[in-house]
Amino acid sequence: SSADAPPTENRAFEADVARLLQLMVHSVYSERDVFLRELISNAADACEKLRYEAIASPGLLGDDPKARITIAIDAEAKALSVEDNGIGMGRDEMVEALGTIARSGTRAFVERLQGGEANAGAQLIGQFGIGFYSAFMVAERVEVISRRAGAVETWRWSSDGKGTFSIAPAEPVEAPARGTRVVLHLMEDAKSYLERHTVERVVREQSGHVPVPIAIVEKPGAEPAEIADGAALWAKPRTEVTAEEHKDFYRSVAGQFDEPALTVHYRAEGRHEYTVLLYVPSTRPFDLFEPDRKGRIKLYVKRVFISDDVEILPRYLRFVRGLVDSADIPLNVSREMIQESPVLGAIRNAVCGRVLSELEKLAEKEPKTYTKIWDAFGAVLKEGLYEDFGRRDTLMGLARFHSTSDSKGWRSLKDYVGALKPNQTAIYYITGDDQARLEASPHLEGFRARGIEVLLLTDQVDSFWVTAGAAFDGKPFKSITRGAADLSLIPVLDAKDDTKPEASPAIDAFVAFMKTTLGDAVADVKVSDRLTDSAVCLVASASGLDRQLERMLASAGRLPTASK
Ligand code: ADP
Ligand code: MG
Repeated sequence: SSADAPPTENRAFEADVARLLQLMVHSVYSERDVFLRELISNAADACEKLRYEAIASPGLLGDDPKARITIAIDAEAKALSVEDNGIGMGRDEMVEALGTIARSGTRAFVERLQGGEANAGAQLIGQFGIGFYSAFMVAERVEVISRRAGAVETWRWSSDGKGTFSIAPAEPVEAPARGTRVVLHLMEDAKSYLERHTVERVVREQSGHVPVPIAIVEKPGAEPAEIADGAALWAKPRTEVTAEEHKDFYRSVAGQFDEPALTVHYRAEGRHEYTVLLYVPSTRPFDLFEPDRKGRIKLYVKRVFISDDVEILPRYLRFVRGLVDSADIPLNVSREMIQESPVLGAIRNAVCGRVLSELEKLAEKEPKTYTKIWDAFGAVLKEGLYEDFGRRDTLMGLARFHSTSDSKGWRSLKDYVGALKPNQTAIYYITGDDQARLEASPHLEGFRARGIEVLLLTDQVDSFWVTAGAAFDGKPFKSITRGAADLSLIPVLDAKDDTKPEASPAIDAFVAFMKTTLGDAVADVKVSDRLTDSAVCLVASASGLDRQLERMLASAGRLPTASK
């Protein structure tokens, strides 16, 4: 290297990275194949970033315009490398990208570890993959040699994963002409990754459909042999894609290891032309409720990756993964302009409608699979009940609830309305944190006595949408812990429970006594037909806040704690 080049610099990893690495080095994983998927996915991302930058600066492609990923085996040196001719990294980019944790999924993962879930953590790595650092599951030393597209300088990052890494200029002859090579010096017990068939199997299983071709070089000097063609899965006709292919592609695009519960793959033609390939996962990723968690739908324009930052689906569908590939959005506009473009607006609207209608279809045809989706993501979908008034009826139809009904399991509002009692004009609910506690509430007594079903709402989000003027089939939602429960018109099932309050001087005297004794602690004391066994219960006023919402706001410090 030249005389004025900076010398080797040693740096410590960010504390969270060090912890993460320590966990990986000191545990045994059944799913460590994921490291290869992570490196290939980074290589493919780098190629896609270059393709995007080359729209504005075609010179970056030089005389090597075709993206490629090459996996090379050097059995003698016990080294496996993954190389791409993508965007590459400069020195500062390397320090930033390979020494800290930027990935929100990884960040959430580390936070869970800090919460004391170290053992669960070891298993979670296998389930989720954690990006570049997963290389240390199989390598005792990792080297990254890179040249940024358009740059002359080359850099080498190196680490044994034990707390520090070094960064220094690399010999230009050793570096790729453009892009990045990640070299893994494999641990003794990871030598199976020096066998071609193992590598091929893992690539086929996990990365067979990344949109960049992948070749393998069996030994130093051998000819590269293509093992995946980089054909975009979504461009194939729908009927030609197998469930197995969808599963693999879902895993590589979503970074999850479950199976998609629902696949939405179609081509829209007409005013706008685009292809949609979306998946609804079957399990809940652990960063679902991170406030800054973004949707992860990738936007392509004619197979060129543009961004995964553009909002395509509304927040309440943020669990959906996949991509949209548009033929109409002009390639030369900036990401910001794309976000505002009317074409994207139209696509957004249509895709959201389609996802919801596919969910409706699934709920009807495969209620079991749908229930799985609702179990995992119902609490998120319900955010749409107050965020997307235009689609509220659809979302109401998709919503499922636990209730006091004898039929166990999820109930739809259609089920509820189908079981209304004579003269019942409202949909009754109670909110709280815990289903068992709700079921034991004395507020339910008068409703049970009449066989009136009450919805048991236990998600935080419930307190928001039920109070936002929600109704279904013309029936308003009514809290049973708020206001008067006028049950007098609905007959009781068993005469001994008939609690019709009789007007009697003794009761009047008791109510008057309670009012004077409790004074300002309560707004009013009333005779009610909502109880059968209990003598009294606390009720919020019809115009006041719902009790659960009041508790939530109080615990978030937004209200003075409600007096007991
Ligand atoms: P993620 O891919 O989710 O961002 P990773 O841990 O896999 O997280 O990678 C961290 C970062 O390292 C990437 O965002 C990217 O900036 C950089 N990086 C990793 N591999 C490459 C590569 N082959 N080419 C260019 N940049 C890379
Ligand atoms: Mg990655």
